[in-house]
Amino acid sequence: MDLKKIAFDRRLDVLEMVYSKKSGHIGGSMSCMDILTSLYYSVMDIQKIKDHDEDRDRFILSKGHCSEALYTVLADCGFFDKAELETYTRFGTKLAEHPTKGINGIEIATGALGHGLSAAVGMAISLKNRGSAAHVYVLMGDGEQAEGSVWEATMAAAKFGLDNLTMIIDRNRLQISGGTEDVMPLDNLAEKYGAFGCHVVTCNGHDYGELIPALKEGKSKQPTVVIADTIKGYGSSVMENKADWHHNIPTAEEYEQIKADLTKKGMEVS
Ligand SMILES: [Mg+2]
Repeated sequence: MDLKKIAFDRRLDVLEMVYSKKSGHIGGSMSCMDILTSLYYSVMDIQKIKDHDEDRDRFILSKGHCSEALYTVLADCGFFDKAELETYTRFGTKLAEHPTKGINGIEIATGALGHGLSAAVGMAISLKNRGSAAHVYVLMGDGEQAEGSVWEATMAAAKFGLDNLTMIIDRNRLQISGGTEDVMPLDNLAEKYGAFGCHVVTCNGHDYGELIPALKEGKSKQPTVVIADTIKGYGSSVMENKADWHHNIPTAEEYEQIKADLTKKGMEVS
């Protein structure tokens, strides 16, 4: 099946979860879905992850508030029963609004922004020391770039020559309180990461022809940063490029419109 179609199907899953449970971060989940689809359906060897093989690739969702996007992908890839998605955020569920340990496929609990990269750097150092060929991928938000710990961890990644680490930034130019350039300007993020000693690739985060090669690209003795230009709320004009949709719950009318838009787009690409 076409990856773009898979991603629209997962976006529909996210919509159902957010609408039915009145909970979640739909805007950022929609923007990062093509990144997750690329990783789980194409780039990573997910059988090793399912088997908890010590040489498995690692994925860390540093922007943990978009857990529902990852849950839908994990469920569809068979990490756990899809019926569990219906328990999202309900009392006693494993599927809280931020990912926690105890879910097959989740390496660490995340969501406190600025922490995922530090953990990823530690994992990458450990894998390198053991001579493992496994790769570590970490997905951060662009609002998250205002966290100082991101830059401390980036310095360490460059110092230790972590060419087994790919840092992905969901560059949708919005965060909870508005535009990233208004809240805390990132300016030329590629230049900044380059100055910190990283190999930087910029791509369209909704174009698999650009995204997959970018995620596979690397450079000896340097960590790679993939700046994926995306659209917050991707897939429906109800949500696209609107900061309010960071954490909005659709009304019944909006739900119907978003569902129709995502279904139509999914059919167009299949
Ligand atoms: Mg953002």
